Amino acid sequence: MAVLLHLLQLALLKQKYLTADDRSIPYDYLVIATGHSDPVPKTRMERLKEYQAENEKIKSAQYVLIVGGGPTGVELAGEISFDFPEKHVTLVHSGSRLLEFIGPKASAKTLQWLTSKRVEVKLEQRVDLNSITDSNGSKIYHTTAGESIKADCHFICTGKPLGSEWLKGTILKNNLDGQGRLMVDEYLRVKGRKNIFAIGDITDVPEIKQGYLAQKHALVAAENLKLLMAGGKERKMSTYKPGSSTAIVSLGRRDAVAQFPYTTLIGIFPGMIKSRDLFVGKTRKQRGLQPR
Ligand SMILES: Cc1cc2nc3c(=O)[nH]c(=O)nc-3n(C[C@H](O)[C@H](O)[C@H](O)COP(=O)(O)OP(=O)(O)OC[C@H]3O[C@@H](n4cnc5c(N)ncnc54)[C@H](O)[C@@H]3O)c2cc1C
Repeated sequence: MAVLLHLLQLALLKQKYLTADDRSIPYDYLVIATGHSDPVPKTRMERLKEYQAENEKIKSAQYVLIVGGGPTGVELAGEISFDFPEKHVTLVHSGSRLLEFIGPKASAKTLQWLTSKRVEVKLEQRVDLNSITDSNGSKIYHTTAGESIKADCHFICTGKPLGSEWLKGTILKNNLDGQGRLMVDEYLRVKGRKNIFAIGDITDVPEIKQGYLAQKHALVAAENLKLLMAGGKERKMSTYKPGSSTAIVSLGRRDAVAQFPYTTLIGIFPGMIKSRDLFVGKTRKQRGLQPR
């Protein structure tokens, strides 16, 4: 995102230092946007290889197990059932409903959709990945509810950890809430800090965590940075108001489930917004690139 690159450049201006372990980052103004972290950072090529290997894994399996019924698990189950309708997919989720980050209506419609595509959904149980046994070339997975699930491979879709571990070794360690999110004020500054902003999933803004809201944060933070750097008055800073609870989760290449402020829809209409290209075209356009 161009605006984030610009913010990063601003963050690298020399003055104060944010210390993490034995490394220091000099800054005049700082914007923290470390949302969720990848346990092992990967290059683009490594990531592509990983995706190809996972695609092969799906192609060669007859039974696929997905662990986790949040957006990642649901979108993966939807994609496999759309591209490989002959495969048997089981999705196990520890919660009492799928997609707990949005409302129960969306969860119920999603469950119905997945079931209609022959995805077997098992709620309120966990897969014990330490007790996988073999049976005639397939694996048998066991759940905390005492069920056995046959699968040739599994995918862990239980979400990435928040990218705030590194902040625990910095001057911001006391600015984290109980969940590890940075507490921010209405200007998106870290509370009590005049020159440190935080945006995106890492913040404690009371709203669902979505990329389009992270982009709105970036615009507010950028405006406020420009103002402060030009010597403007703090009281003239822009404020951020928590966003609506709109979210779209794709279900295969054609359908999606969408929660809008006054209604929840499932099917082709929300699918037209997201599922055809998962916003790749729109994002490329925003960056001045040719849509592919
Ligand atoms: C399956 C799924 C579907 C989604 N669909 C949508 C959708 O349709 N629309 C939508 O608006 N949102 C969607 N979201 C949510 C969206 O992905 C997030 O809200 C968005 O990515 C948050 O952006 P961010 O920049 O705050 O954090 P992230 O995207 O998590 O980016 C943080 C970056 O910081 C890096 N990082 C972490 N720690 C460090 C560190 N110590 N040093 C350096 N770098 C670090 C990470 O590696 C990462 O690259 C979806 C999420 C999921 C899981």
